[in-house]
Amino acid sequence: MTDLTGVPALTLKNPWGHLVAHHGKNIENRGWMPPESVWRLLIHAGKGWDRGPIADEWRDSLTPIATSAIVAVADVAYACNTSQWADEVCCGCGEWAQPGQCHWALINVRAIPVPVPCDGALRLWRPAPPVVAQVEEQLGAVAL
Ligand SMILES: [Zn+2]
Repeated sequence: MTDLTGVPALTLKNPWGHLVAHHGKNIENRGWMPPESVWRLLIHAGKGWDRGPIADEWRDSLTPIATSAIVAVADVAYACNTSQWADEVCCGCGEWAQPGQCHWALINVRAIPVPVPCDGALRLWRPAPPVVAQVEEQLGAVAL
């Protein structure tokens, strides 16, 4: 079984968690860099929605997406702060990278077939063991 012991979770506003899990969004934009010890994340889709054209489009779509749930597991390939103080993206982090942000590059994204409901939190946080167990169980057959 996949062992996710000690893997922290990160709550993303909607629809970003969904886009990470299912639509190839491979950069998480944050105002801070992850600790060096963090190389894998549980991606949690929060309760709330971000604003902006993409977010609004998803919120208004007819297809509901999972919220307030763990939706994916991803590895952190690298983190980049080259554009953190810039008005334009000046690194090679791709289409999802935003200026004024640190870029957490996500690889090996595994969407969880049935998102596991739980409340989110700020910063990096530890889900309750039963939640982690449900994620592990679903990813048991998936090679990490
Ligand atoms: Zn970057």
